[in-house]
Amino acid sequence: MKKIICSLLSAASLLGTAVAAPTLTVYSSRKSNLIEHVFKAYEKTSGVKIEYMTDKAGPLLQKLMAEGAHSKADIFMTVDAGNLWTAAEQGVLKGVDSETLRANIPAFYRDPSDRWFGLSLRARTIVYNPNKVKPSELSTYEDLASPKWKGRLALRTSKKVYNQSLVAMLIENHGHREAMGLVQGWVSNLGAPVFAKDSMALQAVAAGRADVTLVNTYYYGRLMRENPDLPLSIFWPNQGDQGGVHVNVSGAGVVRHSKNEAEAVKLLEWLSSEAGQNLFSDVNMEYPVNEKVAPSEEIAAWGSFRPNTTNLAVAGRRQREAIMLMDIAGYK
Ligand code: FE
Repeated sequence: MKKIICSLLSAASLLGTAVAAPTLTVYSSRKSNLIEHVFKAYEKTSGVKIEYMTDKAGPLLQKLMAEGAHSKADIFMTVDAGNLWTAAEQGVLKGVDSETLRANIPAFYRDPSDRWFGLSLRARTIVYNPNKVKPSELSTYEDLASPKWKGRLALRTSKKVYNQSLVAMLIENHGHREAMGLVQGWVSNLGAPVFAKDSMALQAVAAGRADVTLVNTYYYGRLMRENPDLPLSIFWPNQGDQGGVHVNVSGAGVVRHSKNEAEAVKLLEWLSSEAGQNLFSDVNMEYPVNEKVAPSEEIAAWGSFRPNTTNLAVAGRRQREAIMLMDIAGYK
C-alpha cells in the first residue's frame, strides 16, 4: 500500500501537480457572518479547504436526508440542542470517538452517543425593566407564573425551538403536571400577545408594555450594544439549589455519509479548542462551552451564573411533549 502511495506521489510530482488539500463541506444554519471568519482561520492553520452552504435548519436537514449517501456534506451545524437531537434521530449524523471532544466539552452539552457536540453556549434568562422591577422581586422561571406578575410578562412565540427546549427542560425537572401549571401561569400573566422574536419582546419591555421577559443572552447583548441607554437589565434565575439557568448550545456533528470523517472530526476538535472557541462564540456574544476558555469581556460583565446541567438531549427527547403541553396551556 505504502509503495502505491509513494509511486502516486512521485508521479504527481513528476507531472508538477501538487496533491490537493482535502476539502470539507459544511451545511450550516448558523449564518455566514458568524462562521466565515472561523473557517478562514481554520483553513490558514490546517491547509484544509472549507466549503459551506447556509439555510434554515429544517431545509438543510431535509436536504441531507434526500441526498443520503450521495451527500457532499461532512458536517451539519445548527443552533439549539432540539435541532441537533432531531438530526441525530433522523439518522443523518454518526457517533464519533474523540477523546479531545470529550475532554473539551462537558457531557451535558453533547449527545450521550457523541453524534453532536455543543460548540457555543447561550443562556435563556430573565431580562427586566429596572424602572419597573427591583431585582429582589425576581427569583426563578417558576415564579414568573405567580399572580404577582399578572399583565407584566412578555414572551416570544411557543413556535420557536428555544421555548420548546425551555419547556422540555421544565417538564424534565418538574414532571408534566407541574410544568403545565407553570406554563398556564405564564400565559395568564402575559401583558401583550406573544412576539415573533426575542428582540421584539425586549423592545416591549424597554417601552414599558411589559416588565419582564425570557430571552437568549445574545439578543440582549446585541440590543444593548446598539442602544446602551435602554432600560433593560439581566437577571440569572434559579441560582442556589433551584436548578440553574436554562442554557442551550449551537453545535455540530459529523454527517453519516461523510467521505472525510477524520478531517471532519479534526475541525470539530479545533472548534472546541482554545484556538477555536473564542472565534466561534465571541462573534455572536455567546459563551465558550470549553470551561478552560474565558468568555469575552463584554459578556463576562453580565456576571457569572450556575447553569442547569441536565443533559441537553432532553430538549429534543421531550420536544413533542413540550409542543403539545404549550398548545393545551394556550401558549400561542
Ligand atoms: Fe437566535
